[in-house]
Formats: sequence, C-alpha cells, structure tokens
Amino acid sequence: MSDKVYLGHRVRRRFGQNFLTDPYVIDEIVSTINPITGENLVEIGPGLGALTKPILDKVDKLIVVELDRDLAERMRNYPEMASKLTIYEADVIKFDFRSLSTLKNPLRIFGNLPYNISTPLLFHLFTFTGAVKDMHFMMQKEMVNRLAADPGSKAYGRLTVMAQYYCKVVPVIEVSPSSFTPAPKVDSTFVRLIPHNELELPHPATNLKWLERVCREGFNQRRKTVRNCFKKMIDLETLTSLEIDPTARPENLTLAQFVLLANWMDANNLENNNKDLI
Ligand code: SAM
Repeated sequence: MSDKVYLGHRVRRRFGQNFLTDPYVIDEIVSTINPITGENLVEIGPGLGALTKPILDKVDKLIVVELDRDLAERMRNYPEMASKLTIYEADVIKFDFRSLSTLKNPLRIFGNLPYNISTPLLFHLFTFTGAVKDMHFMMQKEMVNRLAADPGSKAYGRLTVMAQYYCKVVPVIEVSPSSFTPAPKVDSTFVRLIPHNELELPHPATNLKWLERVCREGFNQRRKTVRNCFKKMIDLETLTSLEIDPTARPENLTLAQFVLLANWMDANNLENNNKDLI
C-alpha cells in the first residue's frame, strides 16, 4: 500500500496526518477516555474516524473539529455517524472552545493530534481550561516528556511550567510508530491532562504575563544562576526572603518558585507593569 493514499484518502503530511490503525491501541484509548452519553465530547482531527467510530458506539453525540475539507466531507457522508456528529470544518488553533461549553457540561476534549501544531495548540487550549473537564491526547513522546518533566531534568522548560500551572499531567500509554499509517518518525504517548479548578489553582499567578516572562527569561538562560538571570528585576535579599536559593539555576526552580518570583515582580515592578510585557 502506498503511504500517499490511505482508505482512498490522499494523506496530507502538512496536516500531520498519521492515522491510527492498531486496534489494541484504539481500544485502550477508548477505555481510557471512557466516554458516557450526555457528556460534552469534542474530538480534534477525527481524520478517517479511527477514534470517532468506537467513541460513537458508546455515546449519542460528538463534536468534531477537522481542518481537511476532504475528511470533513467524508465525515458528513458516513451514514452511521453523521446523525450523531456536529462537524466543524475549522482550524483548531483558532477555534473558540468556550462557545461549546456550558457551566453544567464542561468539555471533554480528545484527539490524536497533528504533531506539527501541538505546542501552539496546547497554549491555545490552556486559555479555555475553565471550560474543560479533561483532555486526552496522542502526542509525540518527547512532547509528553516535556509536559510531565520534573525540575532539573533536560525536558523541563517553559512548556512544562505552563502545562503544570493549568493541568495535572498523566502519561497513560506509550505507542510505537507501527500503530499508525503512515508511520510517524517518532514515538508517541497518549496523555491525560486534567485542568485544575480555575478558582483553586495550586499556585495562582497574579499576572500571567509575569509568569510567562520569568519562564522565558529563566529557560533562555537555564544554566546561569537565578541571581544573575534575574538581576535586573530582583535583588539578592529579596530572593533570600522568598526562600529562593540565588545560586540555584532557573532550570531547577519549581512551578511554585516561578510563580513566587512572578507574583513578587507583579507586585513590585510597577514601572514594568505599565509596559507591554509581550
Ligand atoms: N483521529 C485520526 C486518527 O487517529 O486516525 C486522525 C489523526 S491525524 C494524526 C490528525 C488529524 O488532525 C487529521 O485528520 C488532520 O487533518 C487534522 N488536523 C490537522 N491540522 C488541523 C487543524 N489545524 N485543525 C483541525 N484539524 C486538524
């Protein structure tokens, strides 16, 4: 079989199209998601329906967001699925998920993601975590390692801190390239992300722009000492009073410490607060 055409569909690599074909993995994913009728389920990138079909066997409705117009059209024409589906032919990176959620019925979002857009997609999804009950995604293994990383590890970075700020990260299933057609060049991991309650974040930041800024500056200079890295913003005495070791490296700071720094800067750098922090 050619890599270029699968089930009569011309595979578009630019849309990250690696279709799941391994029935064992598909079963594991469906039981991990455990969809129940009445839930507000949304699939990102249904493709040829590898997850869509078995999920629809268990529930009576499902929302899907698909960018590829041929695949969206095929979805509309699947006789046994179309009546249960609400199909948005749209770019998920610009999609307003809040418009789908209600207070009583928060979203359960899942998908075998196009790997080429996972980072911007996650940052987009983090802006809706108040409307989301949980998210289950197939992603590049290296990306999931970054989401779940501990301070001091190589994978620990800005994405880790921001992901763990918003969500509990639980890697669930390791998946090899042979489970997909065409096979991706990388290993994959299926991961569960459970947003923290918006009103009970474990480490709330008073201003997210400051948290983003300390992460950016910290991880751009991860091997410097904390004292040197942030010397224009915070002095030695203050670091000590915040119980942050000035000789530590930014890559060793915990989420709680990044938030502590960001909140101090928010409260004290009034001049900077008025500027665009980017
Ligand atoms: N769910 C199918 C499966 O598991 O076999 C397909 C998964 S494939 C890795 C990614 C899917 O996301 C494709 O159907 C692709 O067309 C779709 N996609 C890619 N970029 C997208 C975007 N920006 N917005 C919505 N869907 C997108």
